[in-house]
Amino acid sequence: MGTKVKNYKKVYLDHFGLNEADDIACEYSWIVKRVMVRAVNIHHIEHGANKNDDINNLMAVCYKVHQLAHSEKLNRYHLKEVHKTFLKENPYD
Ligand SMILES: [Zn+2]
Repeated sequence: MGTKVKNYKKVYLDHFGLNEADDIACEYSWIVKRVMVRAVNIHHIEHGANKNDDINNLMAVCYKVHQLAHSEKLNRYHLKEVHKTFLKENPYD
């Protein structure tokens, strides 16, 4: 049976019914640019004191978007809105 450790990647995959072999879409590219780009990171939208592994805080992003997120060129409020939309309009249904 599975491991006791529930990491945030598993939370993310389980939410969408994906497994580790599946391609994961960059949420930002999908919602904002309407293109499919493979995600390479599950980003915590809120980090620091409010960091948590809830699906509402976990956002799959490509390398470029992840860099922008950590350089604050994409702010977390905007990312949160994009993520909210993605939860309703994801490509996996
Ligand atoms: Zn990150």
